[in-house]
Amino acid sequence: MSKRLENKITRWYGKGTPTRVWLAKHWHRYITYGCSMCWHECKGHQNSVRSTYSKGYGDINSPKGFAEIAEYAYDNYGESFKS
Ligand SMILES: [Zn+2]
Repeated sequence: MSKRLENKITRWYGKGTPTRVWLAKHWHRYITYGCSMCWHECKGHQNSVRSTYSKGYGDINSPKGFAEIAEYAYDNYGESFKS
């Protein structure tokens, strides 16, 4: 367990295991499908802010620092995604 990252997750998203499993799910999708938003091969997403369309739009490190806590959550709370 990392006290620093636990504190960061709590600060960003709150306490509790469900929050950490939710983070782990994003990392699982990212390493499995190349996109943190998809459960299948990414066919692309519209970016409503920039009006662009691109594959793998689900940037795993947005907001900045998300990747670190998502990977940590996957390592520590992602058992259900590792079967
Ligand atoms: Zn996608």
